[in-house]
Amino acid sequence: MAYQSTNPFNAEVLATFVEHDAAELESRLARAADCYDNAWRNTTFAERAAVLAKAAAIMRERTDEFANLITLEMGKLIAQSRGEVQLSAAILDYYAENAERFLAPEILPTKTGEAIVESSPIGVLFGVEPWNFPYYQIARFAAPNLMAGNVIMVKHASNVPQCAQAFEKLMQEAGAPAGAYTNLFISKDQVAQVIDDVRVRGVALTGSEAAGAVVASRAGQNLKKTTMELGGSDAFIVLEDADLERAVKSAVMGRMGNAGQACTASKRFIVVESLADAFLAQFKAALANFKPGDPMNKETTLAPLCSEDALQHLLNQVQQSVDKGARVVIGGARMDHPGAFMEPTILTDIDTSNPAYKEEFFGPVALFFRVADENAAIALANDSPFGLGGSVFTQDIDRAKRVASRVETGMVFINRPASSAPDLPFGGIKNSGYGRELSGAGIQEFVNKKLIRVA
Ligand code: NAP
Repeated sequence: MAYQSTNPFNAEVLATFVEHDAAELESRLARAADCYDNAWRNTTFAERAAVLAKAAAIMRERTDEFANLITLEMGKLIAQSRGEVQLSAAILDYYAENAERFLAPEILPTKTGEAIVESSPIGVLFGVEPWNFPYYQIARFAAPNLMAGNVIMVKHASNVPQCAQAFEKLMQEAGAPAGAYTNLFISKDQVAQVIDDVRVRGVALTGSEAAGAVVASRAGQNLKKTTMELGGSDAFIVLEDADLERAVKSAVMGRMGNAGQACTASKRFIVVESLADAFLAQFKAALANFKPGDPMNKETTLAPLCSEDALQHLLNQVQQSVDKGARVVIGGARMDHPGAFMEPTILTDIDTSNPAYKEEFFGPVALFFRVADENAAIALANDSPFGLGGSVFTQDIDRAKRVASRVETGMVFINRPASSAPDLPFGGIKNSGYGRELSGAGIQEFVNKKLIRVA
């Protein structure tokens, strides 16, 4: 199947795009390499910043136009789509404003002479990106790397081709020279070809573990640097001294945002015995209130999943968990409503042999665990192949920080669900990947830290 926009609310096919043939792909690669060599790498920070700031301004001016495409292609609630457009613009502005400072030459103290470490661009970078935040995911890869002087090629997910094109057009309108930002409608074989291409110097992927393993190993064979932002099954730890009302509100936000389709969604709810029953009852009551409907309608609270396939996959996971002994507290089935809607679901009684214990549920399905105490909560949180984010709820902030230090992930949030901001590093460990995006860390991944030594 080629690149296709299908509205998951009503299954209407909105647009179909053919994949590039060999000649088109070659011409795009050649244009990107030429842009790097003869134009973009020679621009000043101020010139690059002007392009990114213009792109941010256009996104803000035309928020609805950008947001509508997200909602049409992958079903996100329209208010959340608008939020994503604003966040993407903020990322573009953040790197426009701070890149020069982040990449300023560093003078090293040496016993004799002079030593400087310069941060120079490395060339054409290739990104493989997911559909769940169609602009934000691209912005966090493209903005820092364009500011560093690299040029960007992106293979976006095949279900969000209109968003993919909209971002390419945005960069053109903002004044980026041809080849500085290139969208690619390419097959998986062509992805391998692009990774192999000598003109491509680095590869970033955000997506599943399976795709990450394929892309990272191909890049490894070519000795090319990668960053991998993969899946997660974030723990949401509630200790006995937590503010219960706040914890439940946060649990609902953490699990239900983007219809549960976020890598850092709260997925495993680990609650200390003394609060477990009350937490579960209130969480269940809150999930029962979600109303499915057109995600374009401001009144709708439950969005469809991004596709019928995604819904079928999630339903299978739930069924397998139940077959292995999990108990459904609420939900568990497809919603009685047209479109790819999943009932908000809570599963309990998940033992260590249940596949659910180690899997990521990419949708509104919460896994609930009760534990004896803080140590048991941390042990359970860490008993996961993933290590992306997580949350800890307690009114004792010093205690929360101690717990956070023991949770083996790239990010831990205290008394709130996970969130993302331009100035905060984002990324994981273990099967959640490696490398960081956003903040000062995100701009250092694909630059040459070049030592210049004066005798
Ligand atoms: P996915 O199937 O891995 O797709 C992500 C991207 O990889 C898409 O562009 C996809 O293209 C491409 N792709 C898939 N298999 C490939 C292969 N064998 N070779 C080359 N490219 C390949 O991921 P998804 O299921 O759509 O997205 C959800 C996953 O992403 C979840 O696991 C989620 O946790 C993770 N995620 C992680 C982060 C993070 O920052 N850590 C952020 C968001 C999402 P096609 O669309 O053409 O298949």
